[in-house]
Amino acid sequence: MLIVCAEQARVEAELVAGGLSCPSCWGVLGPWGHARARVVRCVTGARWLWPRRARCRGCRGTHVLLPDLLLSRRRDEVAVIGAAIEAKVAGLGHRPIAERLGVPKDTVRGWLRRFVVRAGQVRAHFTRWAVALDPELGPVLPAGSGVADALEAIAIAARGWVLRFGPGEVWPIAAVLSGGVLLCNTSCPFPPVR
Ligand SMILES: [Zn+2]
Repeated sequence: MLIVCAEQARVEAELVAGGLSCPSCWGVLGPWGHARARVVRCVTGARWLWPRRARCRGCRGTHVLLPDLLLSRRRDEVAVIGAAIEAKVAGLGHRPIAERLGVPKDTVRGWLRRFVVRAGQVRAHFTRWAVALDPELGPVLPAGSGVADALEAIAIAARGWVLRFGPGEVWPIAAVLSGGVLLCNTSCPFPPVR
């Protein structure tokens, strides 16, 4: 799986031109049909998505190109998941968060539990990215809890990304920098920082 820009036409042009790299071996990716179509719940409502699939000319591995609106194995837009995480850090429980976002409470509870379990890894990974993107970054002070520290690291890395590459929203950037596995099992490693 590779997280790509949400602009389909741009991704298609990059893919055809050989501008996308294999996340496993850095070989050149070429077009390889599509992955299965799926319904995703976006801020603006449900929509169908039919992600592109690519094949590496080096290792022959195939990869689903997932737009940066999404995380692996999650049906909800990453901005919605991010809003739930921000609300939790602000002190809300999963029930009021679910009500506010219009998402089933068990779904929200699942996101938050996974984020809590993964918070230490998230903080370490995004802090590495923050330093890689902005070598002059000063010390990052503790924010008060594991989840708050993790969220702070995401925010700082996203700021570094914007400084380097231009405007962008924090949660799609988090999807890209986590390789889409932000809320996957802790045994699912984040891609290396480079
Ligand atoms: Zn490859």
